[in-house]
Amino acid sequence: MNDPGVFTEPCAICRVRKAVRWCDYVIRYDRSIIFLRDYKKFVEANEHPRDETCDLPLCEKCTHEQNKADLCPHHYKLQQKTELPADLKKAQLRAKMKIAQEILNS
Ligand SMILES: [Zn+2]
Ligand SMILES: [Zn+2]
Repeated sequence: MNDPGVFTEPCAICRVRKAVRWCDYVIRYDRSIIFLRDYKKFVEANEHPRDETCDLPLCEKCTHEQNKADLCPHHYKLQQKTELPADLKKAQLRAKMKIAQEILNS
């Protein structure tokens, strides 16, 4: 209550502490390319992915850090579920090996 900053950007989960992280979970992928005549501007415009992230404000305690990314509790749970079942994992591994082989042979 003493810190006015808490109310400008409170953590969306506990609503008590100040938000210092934002959820990095990608909610919409955008891999389209912007075409520009100027090559330099073209490179600049396409340098950063325009994927849209969740951006839920999180405090130090409510974030789930994974591979240097911050995840809100909702997306952290979702992330746990994105693991493929064993039989599909085998197919995934075969595909990855084939892709790696093709890169080596090119
Ligand atoms: Zn919090
Ligand atoms: Zn999130």
